[in-house]
Amino acid sequence: MMVTPRYVGRYAPSPTGPLHAGSMVAALASWLDAKAHGGQWWVRIEDVDTPRCVPEAEAQILRQLAACGLHPDGPVWHQRQRGAAYAGALAQLQRAGLVYGCACSRQDIARAHGGALATGQVLPYPGTCRHGTHGKPVRAWRLHTQRAGWLRWHDRRLGWQQQWLAREVGDVVLRRADGLWAYQLAVVVDDAAQGITDVVRGEDLVDNTPRQRLLQQVLGLPRLRYLHTPLVRNAEGHKLSKQTGAAAVATETDAEVRHTLTQAAQALALHAPQAWQPVPHWLAQAVAQWAQRWGL
Ligand SMILES: [Zn+2]
Repeated sequence: MMVTPRYVGRYAPSPTGPLHAGSMVAALASWLDAKAHGGQWWVRIEDVDTPRCVPEAEAQILRQLAACGLHPDGPVWHQRQRGAAYAGALAQLQRAGLVYGCACSRQDIARAHGGALATGQVLPYPGTCRHGTHGKPVRAWRLHTQRAGWLRWHDRRLGWQQQWLAREVGDVVLRRADGLWAYQLAVVVDDAAQGITDVVRGEDLVDNTPRQRLLQQVLGLPRLRYLHTPLVRNAEGHKLSKQTGAAAVATETDAEVRHTLTQAAQALALHAPQAWQPVPHWLAQAVAQWAQRWGL
């Protein structure tokens, strides 16, 4: 008989650079939640967007996690090795008539909205190719969202959330024009393959949840629980990210590890123990605080 664990969590960084204070908060929160539930914690490297990956980033991230005592309960998972599984999921949706080929460029989508596209701007897909590409070559594959209606879901911190996907995002890209697998599809397929039960991640990813919930639904995969953690902001009030030049957290010395963990714990409204202790003891206290805070 197969025993399904009650709780399997994951931390899933993109290897685009080392962990900064914001990504360390998400890593610590996902680890604490797994341990407070008596569950497993996995690390998954989300290297599906290969042009954005930095060769040394993965080793840096794993070194930073290990220095902070955050050790995965099994081998590190890589999305770059998962192409066959993503192709299988797309084929399943093609057979079910739930996806269609799209011939639009970014400029085509901007024109359909009646204007030029500002740099970095993302417009909802207007549905141009929903009934065929009129002989133009297929560039990307998209999931029909027209019948999804309001997608409602519950977040443990933020409460009930909803999104009208068709209006706010449009039909979701599953395979991109450059041939790469879309992040949304990879996450959903891997969460199911790894038996993930709980997603704990930064609030910057909260907008992705409705797309991932819809994909779970159409692929017949289990629903997950969600907890999105508060964002860490810099002095100017911007979210810490590689784009805003957030510095890597330092984890070389004991003092640096202490500072990094204490900062992350404070962002999660935990009270770090007054006297510094060896990392495993500090973490055990943080787990107890986390369990109390979330009523586990
Ligand atoms: Zn199109």
